[in-house]
Parts: sequence; structure tokens; C-alpha cells
Amino acid sequence: MTLPPARGPLNPFPYRGWMSSVADADRVADLARRVVADHDPKKVPIPEYLAACYDAGLSWVHFPEGLGGLGVSRGLQAVADRILQGAGGPIPLSLNPMGYGMAAPTVREHAQSDELKKSWLRPLASTEHIWCQLFSEPGAGSDLAGLATSAVRDGDDWVLNGQKVWTSLAHRARWGLLLARSNPDVPKHKGLTYFVLDMHGPGVETRPLRQMTGQAEFNEVYITDARIPDAHRLGEVGNGWNVAMTTLMNERSALGGSGNRRGAGTISDAVALWASRPDLRTSVLRDRLTQLWLRSEAQRLTAERSRAAATVGGPGPEGSIGKLVGAELNQHIYQWCMDLLGPEGILYHGYGSGDRDEDESGKDWRGPIQQRFLRSKANTIEGGTSEVMRNILGERILGLPGDLRADAGMPWKEIPRG
Ligand SMILES: Cc1cc2nc3c(=O)[nH]c(=O)nc-3n(C[C@H](O)[C@H](O)[C@H](O)COP(=O)(O)OP(=O)(O)OC[C@H]3O[C@@H](n4cnc5c(N)ncnc54)[C@H](O)[C@@H]3O)c2cc1C
Repeated sequence: MTLPPARGPLNPFPYRGWMSSVADADRVADLARRVVADHDPKKVPIPEYLAACYDAGLSWVHFPEGLGGLGVSRGLQAVADRILQGAGGPIPLSLNPMGYGMAAPTVREHAQSDELKKSWLRPLASTEHIWCQLFSEPGAGSDLAGLATSAVRDGDDWVLNGQKVWTSLAHRARWGLLLARSNPDVPKHKGLTYFVLDMHGPGVETRPLRQMTGQAEFNEVYITDARIPDAHRLGEVGNGWNVAMTTLMNERSALGGSGNRRGAGTISDAVALWASRPDLRTSVLRDRLTQLWLRSEAQRLTAERSRAAATVGGPGPEGSIGKLVGAELNQHIYQWCMDLLGPEGILYHGYGSGDRDEDESGKDWRGPIQQRFLRSKANTIEGGTSEVMRNILGERILGLPGDLRADAGMPWKEIPRG
């Protein structure tokens, strides 16, 4: 058998010859057709339909059987999704983004028992339980490993104290992925441990933060003597950084390669606006739209390649390409929309409306085009800034020398902090 070529964006045909078997594809398609026949997503409640997808092994087809998967190639998810979404099923990632995009792969790989994995994954998949990601802190964003929230062992529990910030959907979350410092005496990357926090438990207080779109999709979370059973630790004590890598690599892949069809995604907003406003068209705007469409298509195909690479092993640094390019492209597309609208672009009807505690799953959560323009500004920050993505790509793909790290090897407690 020919070995697959080395991973990397320069190879235009990754893993050719490693295609999943036709039998697996047929099985996935058959199961998907059965799910939509028995649980029509247009008629049954969404959680019931998504639970049926989980039971059939279609939530993440590459996961093991019994954990929402079928143990087949990850690339076959597209076969299931085409049938499920073609029948009117929702995109689960948009309903429980941190759950589907990050918590599921992290729990699957690092939770301590199959019982725990099952108890977390099924309600996550059905969206009955929303998840959030408690990583960033006021003093630790790009430099995540510098975080200060402490975890101290006490019998069978850990006692947590600290503050998290920018925690998307914490106000709706049942569970949170949390990274904390369990040992301040060792270098910063080595003293971290990873937990699942009960967001409804004592000692967890969530306060809204309003962003420039007028909405409060994210929060500050204050953690005061919150207790977490040791069974809810993911990975070994002190190995939290490696567990966090599972979460972050999957986050970047989810943000950068959302599996759009040709012409779908953000560019479709621009094309729809162009079609609906012949009165505002100019030839310069038409040229710019064509350029944006071409770049969107190149980005879509790059995301396809990233997904193909991820069918063997987990997502790698390729996810950072999609994250970087997609974030900047979104901003350019919405800037084009504002340029087309001219003065109308500054009229944002319904600014700040929408009840943040309301279940918004049935709505187009992206709001009017003005809101999407403002929201796109966050794309180059969330999930790792564009500067940090460029550092990762420079170091891990181009092989450039790493960033200067003045605190390398220093015990965390001796690193000066502002
Ligand atoms: C909409 C939104 C949702 C978010 N949701 C979550 C969430 O659910 N959970 C969560 O944990 N976090 C979340 N975040 C936080 C996000 O991960 C951080 O904002 C991000 O990692 C940057 O950290 P920071 O804000 O502390 O900025 P800093 O790290 O302070 O960065 C400030 C500036 O310095 C630059 N910089 C920093 N270090 C370097 C370097 N080494 N080289 C070059 N430039 C550098 C950055 O690029 C940036 O421009 C969210 C953020 C946004 C905007």
C-alpha cells in the first residue's frame, strides 16, 4: 500500500487513494435516510431529531459506535450532512457551537470513562445541554498558558477560584470546558489541569458583557470556591495544556472550515444584496464582488483540503489557515456590503434587541446585514487572533524561528504579571 504523502498545504491532492470504502458511504447514507424518514426534522422537535441522529451514529461519524458515531472515516460526515440538511435538518454546530465544535472531541478523547462520555455527549448532541469554553481571563488571552484561575485538590474534589472572560453562551450553558492552574511552581504550560465545570453549581456567577452589535453573546464568569469532582477532570493532572490543544485545534477547524457549498456562506449575503439592490450597483462594486467570490471559492476549497487532511488523525495547523483567511474574508465581504449600501449601512434597525435568555435556535441569529458587519470585526479575535494564527503558520508550516519567549522555563509564580 502507498503511504499517504506528508501533511501540508502544498500538496494539492492529500490522501488520494485513501478513500473510505463505498460500503461505509452507503451505510452512512442509508442510516441518514432512515433518520429523516422516522424523525422528519421539519415536524419533530429539534432536540428529538438530533438525539435520533446521535443514536444512529450520525452526529460525528468518526466517533466510536455508542458515542454518536460509527467508527468510519471523518470525511463521510459530509455524506450524512447532505442528506440530513437536505431534508431540512439544522446545522448542529450553529445551535451548540462550543458543544459540537470543541467539547465533543475533547470529551471523547479525554473523559475518564465511557459512562461519563455517554452522559455528556448525548444531551450535547441533542442541544438539551449547551456547552461553553472557559479559557480566556482578563490577564490571559493570546498567552493562554499564563492563566491564573486556581484549582486546589481537596479529597475527591477540586476547589476552583478565579475569573474568566469573553465566555460565549455561558448564560445558556449547562457545562463549561475549563482550564485552571493546579501547580504554580512549574513553568506555565506544565501546571495546568483541564476540567468540566457545572455551570449551574454553587460558586459560579455569570455576568453579561455587551458587544458593539448591541447584543450580549458573551460573559464574565466569576468562580468562587466552586467544587469539581475529580471524575470531571479531563486528562492527567498537569497535562491540561495538551488537552486544551485538542479543543483549540478543533475550534480553529470549526471556525475556518464550516463545510459550505459553493457560493454559500458569507459570500451568499453579498450576492443576495447585489441581486436585491440594482439601484446601488456600480461597475467597481461588481469587480470587487467578483474578486470576493473567487477568494471565497479558494477558501472553501482550502477548507475542503484541511478537512481531507483531518480525516487521518485530528485537525492540524491547516485549521489555522482556514481560520485566518476566513476571518479576514468575512470582514472584507461585509465591508463590501456596507460600501454598496452607502448611508443606509449606518441604519441598524433593532440595535440591541433580542432577549439573550431566549432560545434563539429557530431564528437567523446573524441578524440584519449591519449587525453581521459589526459582528465580523470579532472574527479576527475570537478563537485566536490573526496575529497568533500567523505565528502558528510561520512556525509550524513554514518552519520559521519561534517567537521570543522570555518566560520559558520559569516557574509560573515568578513570571511578572500586570
Ligand atoms: C466574539 C468573541 C467570542 C469569544 N468567545 C470566547 C469563549 O467562548 N471562550 C474563551 O475562553 N474566550 C473567548 N474569546 C476570547 C478570545 O479567545 C481572546 O479575545 C483572544 O484569544 C485574544 O486574547 P485577548 O483578548 O486577551 O487579547 P491579547 O492576547 O491581549 O492580544 C492583544 C493584541 O496583541 C496581539 N498579540 C498578542 N500576543 C501576540 C504575539 N505573540 N504575537 C503577535 N501579536 C500578539 C493580539 O493579536 C492582539 O492584537 C472570545 C473573543 C471574542 C471576540
